[in-house]
Amino acid sequence: MAPLPNDAPVGIYLHIPFCHHICPYCDFNTFRGLESLIPRYVDALVRDIESNGGGSAQTIYLGGGTPSLLSPQQLDRILTACRNAFELDPVAEITLEANPNGLDAAWFEGVQQVGVNRLSIGTQTFDRKGLRVLGRQHEAADAIAAVAMARDAGIGNLSLDLIFGWPGQTVDRWKADLEQLLTLPGGAPEHCSLYSLIVEPGTPMADAVTRGVLTVLDDDTTADLYEIAMDTLGAAGWTHYEIANFAREPRFLGRHNLVYWRNGAYAAFGAGAHGRIGNERFMNHLKPLTWIEAVESGASPVSNVEHLSPEIQMGETMMLGLRLLGEGVSAAAFATRHGVALDERFGAQIEELAALGLVDWDDERVRLTHRGTLLANDVCARFL
Ligand code: SF4
Repeated sequence: MAPLPNDAPVGIYLHIPFCHHICPYCDFNTFRGLESLIPRYVDALVRDIESNGGGSAQTIYLGGGTPSLLSPQQLDRILTACRNAFELDPVAEITLEANPNGLDAAWFEGVQQVGVNRLSIGTQTFDRKGLRVLGRQHEAADAIAAVAMARDAGIGNLSLDLIFGWPGQTVDRWKADLEQLLTLPGGAPEHCSLYSLIVEPGTPMADAVTRGVLTVLDDDTTADLYEIAMDTLGAAGWTHYEIANFAREPRFLGRHNLVYWRNGAYAAFGAGAHGRIGNERFMNHLKPLTWIEAVESGASPVSNVEHLSPEIQMGETMMLGLRLLGEGVSAAAFATRHGVALDERFGAQIEELAALGLVDWDDERVRLTHRGTLLANDVCARFL
């Protein structure tokens, strides 16, 4: 229920900022050619978690970068540190982001044995042309094989990421991606995240667009692709529970990201990771070596701390909670969390958006309408 109360168990985010290759559209905090730092990085993660972790936790999420560059033994050390430092829910969701290439059956079996129970596989597309445009290093067959090996290892909760709106993508190519997702050997995944390609300034892809080497799809075409996905997955019985996220059954909603969307607290470890605990948001040093040296020397690895006023927190509750399409923001949960009635603080904005057909407001909760979902960024911005 959005928002979460202040005393809810936290989510734990662990950032692994290493990639063998940097994709041209990527603006995540990740580095190529620093893999030799991984053993030191794992040691520092263990030390930081054991020094600064604490309290109840319900989820662990290893994101990147490429967390699948870590061996099962390295993951075991990190997860053991989490279990030592936090009171971890015995049925905690433990997710790891994996790139489909370079993995074998022994790796999948190993990560399952150390407690990873959910894999998010960075598929992006099954289309060969799309994989090249996106600068990915794997082939569709690698993603399909990764799903099969994960299944064989007993991992029963898989999420696949797909990107739509890449230069040159057509409606038919997108429909083929969705069809492949739904008909994977061994069955469809339990969850998928569908991201509209954002060409971020400063990336090689933005440079290629500026030079006219690549042409991005226009907003209307990209919106059509999004609607096709909603229709296709809806017809297949999937739950569209968050703007970019779909679950095959309600029990497969991504629990870690729900902590974010419900404006819950999360601890964060690793270079460039940012967390929110209480009234503070903090961010760690971006560069792996800077972050490692801070931890090794006993200094704080945190580079920035932002104090979150009640106004900012209430705005963020709306901005994040409205992303949850079925759940929306609960008036009762809002009052419990913030000590102010939802209609007292945001009644004017909600009524204005309801009059425009962008939100539904029934006094118990406020949710995006279908039209509001298509214009979600504009709607959410009204609350900040
Ligand atoms: S694999 Fe992911 S994190 Fe690494 S460069 Fe590509 S998009 Fe970025």
